[in-house]
Amino acid sequence: MELPCHECDVLVIGGGIAGLWCAYHAVPKGKVVVLNKGSFAEANTFWAQGGMAAALAPSDAPEKHFADTVAAGAGLCDEEAVWVLVTEAPKQVLRLWQIGVPFDTDDGQLVLTIEGAHSVERIAHAYGDATGRAIMETLPKAAEDAGVRLMERVTVVKLLMSGGECVGALAVREGKAEVWRAKATVLATGGCGQLFAVTTNPTAATGEGIALAFEIGAEVADMEFVQFHPTALAVGEVPRPLISEAVRGEGAILRNVKGERFMPRYHPKAELAPRDVVARAIFTEMQETGVPYVWLDISHRGEEFVRERFPNIYRACLERGFNIGREPIPVAPAAHYHMGGVRTDLWGRTKVPRLFAIGECACTGVHGANRLASNSLTEGLVFSYRAAQALDEWLSKLLPPLPTNIAPPQSWQGDEALLRAIQATMSEKVGVVRDGDGLRQALKRLAELGERATGLGRAWVTTAWLIAMAALTREESRGAHFRRDFPQPEDARWRVRLIWQSQGTEVWQASPLIHLAPIRPFNPPKHPVPNCAG
Ligand SMILES: Cc1cc2nc3c(=O)[nH]c(=O)nc-3n(C[C@H](O)[C@H](O)[C@H](O)COP(=O)(O)OP(=O)(O)OC[C@H]3O[C@@H](n4cnc5c(N)ncnc54)[C@H](O)[C@@H]3O)c2cc1C
Repeated sequence: MELPCHECDVLVIGGGIAGLWCAYHAVPKGKVVVLNKGSFAEANTFWAQGGMAAALAPSDAPEKHFADTVAAGAGLCDEEAVWVLVTEAPKQVLRLWQIGVPFDTDDGQLVLTIEGAHSVERIAHAYGDATGRAIMETLPKAAEDAGVRLMERVTVVKLLMSGGECVGALAVREGKAEVWRAKATVLATGGCGQLFAVTTNPTAATGEGIALAFEIGAEVADMEFVQFHPTALAVGEVPRPLISEAVRGEGAILRNVKGERFMPRYHPKAELAPRDVVARAIFTEMQETGVPYVWLDISHRGEEFVRERFPNIYRACLERGFNIGREPIPVAPAAHYHMGGVRTDLWGRTKVPRLFAIGECACTGVHGANRLASNSLTEGLVFSYRAAQALDEWLSKLLPPLPTNIAPPQSWQGDEALLRAIQATMSEKVGVVRDGDGLRQALKRLAELGERATGLGRAWVTTAWLIAMAALTREESRGAHFRRDFPQPEDARWRVRLIWQSQGTEVWQASPLIHLAPIRPFNPPKHPVPNCAG
């Protein structure tokens, strides 16, 4: 059967901050198309609250941002990638401001705030606590005005290979399959929080992009590292509304359902302990009390303060029947951010010629075992801008013809029941606290699900399976990955990154190849770096 075929120079899959920023900068080079599964409001980017980190303050410097990022990454950051991030972040954030993102300002200057584990004020934000909405109200229009063709509700179900190169993608629009042929394909499909039952991620974040790239030979790395946000509002809603860390920063207290303040028992910094420590403490309290939430209480700061400081959180709580200015609210940990993904170099290049990966679906190594708050939007900007420069190399080279055997997918949608089954398995066995027995059970269950999965469902199982397999392999606890059977970090054996490559069969039938990559030593240049790249 002949499928409709469209041609472009650059095909970007996913329209969040990373995909749109790359498309915006690629457009002078040729015809650029962005395919997005849902609407732009369904991207993780739209939901980002706190803001983006960049060393823009006079008291700050890239060296300080570097030190904070590497400390959060618990020994696993690719420090060269971190250096690229922190030195290029100021310029990229200022460019975003220039194209019209309404960052909060005071007297014409960006207002910068501080978040957990940052040593100085360096978070630029917009609309108070709705930075992502401000970005997504601006960026799609800017890209379209520049000449990018934006397409919503087009789902990519397969990446196409010919002559050992990625030559585009098979997509489904309004139930019909179509081929997109491109000289460079950029994967920007975002996170995978929806593979867990409790998540802050919107419904589009099912993580299939990682599996689609893995299937055609791209490497994936750091898959075991999933960040669980400690405080999502415990209401039966998908996604769960996020209650930002900044609320604890302003003095909110955590209590279990018996009314006991518990954080001082877990960490000297109590409620301001690192994100993974707070998430595990809440998880433990929930298990001990048998109640699926704890209380977060900032009512002592008064309603007026809370309403002014956190207008969107205040409103979101009120809409769900809680007045956070007057009473404690129920919270629980939720899958929030994936540090792992498709492995790239410093220019977004994957192992597959003509295939790039950027944003949350990519793994540059910047975050190591744990992401520093507000570094992900910044990473999306910095590395997508770089990818837009690097893809030049392919635009003048002859593109192999399309493969002749492209079959329209029999059934392309993954089914809801399958997704619920994956979510239950992942949350129960591959969640905040893991152990060998649970992870082996998860892999067995995922293999069963994989055998009967169809369409995109196979990709969801593949990504979930890779997370569980990596979690089982890493027999230590580090950053966001906690094993109760191996509760300590073990540098001598595990200060390596786990990199996975397909063996050409479904992962649950034959385990993929694993490669242990030691952390490369990196010395940041000695000369001072200006804190604003101009
Ligand atoms: C509630 C919340 C708050 C956050 N707050 C912050 C913050 O303050 N600061 C910060 O730095 N980070 C924050 N993050 C994380 C940050 O928002 C994300 O990491 C970042 O936005 C990811 O951007 P992206 O462009 O990679 O992906 P996304 O913005 O998720 O965009 C990916 C797009 O790809 C599309 N897609 C997926 N699969 C396919 C497919 N098969 N075919 C076609 N399209 C597809 C999706 O529909 C989606 O629109 C937050 C995340 C959440 C959920």
